[in-house]
Amino acid sequence: MQYTANSLEEHWLPFTQNKEFKENPRLVVKSEGCYMWDQNGGKILDGSSSLFNVACGHARPEISEAVYAQLQANDYTPHFQLGHPGSFELARMVARLLPDEMNHVFFANSGSEAIDTALKIVMAYNNARGEPGRIRMVSRERAYHGVNIGGVSLSGMVKNRNVFPLTMPYVVTMRHTWLEQNRFQKDRPTHGGVDLANDLQRFVDTYGADTIAACFVEPIAGSTGCLVPPEGYLERLREICDEHGILLVFDEVITGFGRLGKPFAAHAFGVTPDIMTMAKAITNGAQPMGAVAVRDEIYETVVEKGNGGIEFFHGYTYSAHPAACAAGIATLKIYENEGLFENAAALSDYFLEQVWTLKAIEVVKDIRGYGLMAAIDVELPGRGPGASGMEMQKKLFWDGLHVKFTGDAGILAPPLVAQRAHIDELIEKMAAGLKKAMN
Ligand code: PLP
Repeated sequence: MQYTANSLEEHWLPFTQNKEFKENPRLVVKSEGCYMWDQNGGKILDGSSSLFNVACGHARPEISEAVYAQLQANDYTPHFQLGHPGSFELARMVARLLPDEMNHVFFANSGSEAIDTALKIVMAYNNARGEPGRIRMVSRERAYHGVNIGGVSLSGMVKNRNVFPLTMPYVVTMRHTWLEQNRFQKDRPTHGGVDLANDLQRFVDTYGADTIAACFVEPIAGSTGCLVPPEGYLERLREICDEHGILLVFDEVITGFGRLGKPFAAHAFGVTPDIMTMAKAITNGAQPMGAVAVRDEIYETVVEKGNGGIEFFHGYTYSAHPAACAAGIATLKIYENEGLFENAAALSDYFLEQVWTLKAIEVVKDIRGYGLMAAIDVELPGRGPGASGMEMQKKLFWDGLHVKFTGDAGILAPPLVAQRAHIDELIEKMAAGLKKAMN
């Protein structure tokens, strides 16, 4: 199916240089498996699983058929005091993938909504357990937690917040986890883990634990360039949280659903949070959906406090939309039936080895990676900060490769269905693109 756009003017695109795009549009008109096709028929390898969400590959018939059947049978049911079976089934399937202590799932429509929901759950829980004075939220430099006001308040990316001054108060920010000593370290970074995590302890010492509600981290900071946590980092955060009654929130919007070769980063790193946000690959990108999973004790405390009334005054018209639930159920079945988390684990060493060959190219200034996700920092000669990434992303597209750049970090995250040949193609195209851009 091919659409032509009659006018590009009216649609205001997100996170895009609109004027430039409309002069030189990059339109995708077809996608299948690990590939997409542009408006001129050019074939493009999807080297970032689109936005890290299309993990099973594009245009999976199992998903589109499930969505179609659901819309035919029941297109919509509100979730306020009503329900439909699909949401319960999806929540059960997600809970089966989660660490044992987490068996309750609240649905939203995006990662941003999941983060704002998690912030509210933190507040509701602290209120319910009689600790409403815990008002401070801890976040981190180079964090990305979506674009709603809660997520922007937690953001550690200056461009995402500097023209939006009205964010939440009482957010304190730990240092990010990139360290010079860990540059190009292929295995998990060894330097700095406990020291960096002790930033949380310093907030406890400065503000008092009884004012601190939660600590939000992406287990691997994804959008700012795959910052893998140094050894001991997450473990130390968990220890401090346990000692001081602080909730640990993992934002697993990118790391969830097999990206690291396990269901979640919590499994990959052996650290269980109290609350987990997820989105993206939960529906393989075929329908918008986000979710928040919580430890049983959090759900039970909030529900108990409700005294028979509505326990949590929060929800969206499209929370657990039937079509999104159908897409989610079909997606989770594909992960299981095709052993895709195991495939990611099995492919990881080869993938990382190949990514590290890019180190030989002069403009590559650092490489980081874990599981089936890696980032390369690129500095083309004479370009200012951010310009190399923008230029690379556009040029690579026309050379048949989609890689998402944030700033100057290109984030490589092939679909979990990828084979070695896809990895080879990804690295060859990236190497060729980098060399071309240098000259
Ligand atoms: N949290 C993390 C860690 C993300 O990477 C993202 C998106 O990339 C979000 C939240 C926001 O998700 P969405 O774009 O679905 O709102």
